[in-house]
Amino acid sequence: MSKFWNAIVQGIEPYAAGEQPDGDYIKLNMNENPFAPSPQVIQAIQQAANADLRFYPHPNGDDLREAIGEEHGFPLDHIFIGNGSDEVLAMCFMAFFENKDGKKLRFPDLTYGFYPVYANLLALSYDTVPVDEDLKVNVKDYLHHNTGVVIANPNAPTSRALPLKEIEEILQHNQDCVVIIDEAYIDFGGTSALSLIEHYPNLVVTRTLSKSRSLAGMRVGYCIAQPELIEGINRIKNSINSHTVDTVAQAAAEAAIKDTAYFNKTVQSLIQTRDHTKEALRQIGFKVIDSSTNFLLATHEKYDAASLTNQLKKQKILIRYFPNGRINDYIRISIGTEEEMEQFIHALTDIMNDDKA
Ligand SMILES: *Cc1c(COP(=O)(O)O)cnc(C)c1O
Repeated sequence: MSKFWNAIVQGIEPYAAGEQPDGDYIKLNMNENPFAPSPQVIQAIQQAANADLRFYPHPNGDDLREAIGEEHGFPLDHIFIGNGSDEVLAMCFMAFFENKDGKKLRFPDLTYGFYPVYANLLALSYDTVPVDEDLKVNVKDYLHHNTGVVIANPNAPTSRALPLKEIEEILQHNQDCVVIIDEAYIDFGGTSALSLIEHYPNLVVTRTLSKSRSLAGMRVGYCIAQPELIEGINRIKNSINSHTVDTVAQAAAEAAIKDTAYFNKTVQSLIQTRDHTKEALRQIGFKVIDSSTNFLLATHEKYDAASLTNQLKKQKILIRYFPNGRINDYIRISIGTEEEMEQFIHALTDIMNDDKA
C-alpha cells in the first residue's frame, strides 16, 4: 500500500500470470505452444528490424488486418488488432459495458481470470455464473437481464466447448448488449462463432496469436465484429495509445497468419499429442475432461493436485493447479511436444508409485 495510490489501485486485485522461471523447465503451465514460430515469422521479424523503426507503426495495421481478413473472409472494417487479445478484451470491456438499470455483466465462475479483473478495474457490477457439475457452461443462465456476456469458447481452464447453436441462443437473447466470445483456443477444437458476425450486430469474437500461432512473445491479438462495434473499440484505443501493436509485431503476425501450411501442421500435431496424453492419463487413473483446447484438466481420486504439481516442479516440469476453488482437485497440463509429454507421464507415474510405497 502507498498513500499515493488512488482508491482504485488500492482496491484492485491484479491478474497473476503463470511463472516464467529461468532454467531448463518443461513448461506445461501457461498454455504456450511448444513449437517455434514459423520460419517465415522469424524472417519477417529480421526484415522488419531496419531503419524504418524510427517511424511510428501503421496505427491500424492495415497489412496485418488484410491478412486476417483474407484468412477469415471479412473486410478491413470488421477487424481490430491489439497488443495481445488481453488488450483487445480490456478495450472491449471499456467500450461496451456499463452499469445500467440494475443489470449485470455475466460470465462463468470458472473462466479466464482476466474477466473479473477488468470488471473490477472498471467498477462494473457482474455476476459469475457457476458452470455445472461437469464444468459445462449452461446457456440458460445467460438469457436475460444482462449488461453484457463474456464467454471463452472453448473455455479455460475447463477445456470444454459450447456448440454453435448455444452461442447463437445467447446472442438472440441479448440483443441489447454486447456478447464477447473469446476464441483463444478455437483452433484446437469447437466451432467458431465467426459465421454469426453478419447476423448479430452485438457479437465480438476475439482471437490471439499467442496459442495456436506460437507467438505469445510478440503480443498480438485481434477481434472481429460489425464495423459499428469496431469503431467503438477504436475510439477507446485512440483515447489511450494510438500505436498498440509495434511494427515488428505487425510484420511477425502477418507472416504467421499467412503461413497456413505451418499452422495446420503444428496444430494437427498438437491435437494428436493432446489425445495421446489424455489416454495416457486415463490409463494411470486420472479423470480427464475431453479437451477442445491445447491443455488438459485432470483429477485423480488418490492424489492431491498441489502435491503432484510441486513434485513435478522438483523434476523440472511445470504444470498448474487452482487452489481455493471448485477445481482445487484438478491439475491443468498444457500440451507440449510428444517427447515432452512422454517425459511428463513418466515423471508423473514415478511420483505416484513413490507415493504409494
Ligand atoms: C491466453 C488467453 C488469452 C490471452 O491471449 P493474449 O493474446 O496472449 O493476450 C485470452 N483469453 C483466453 C481465454 C486465454 O486463455
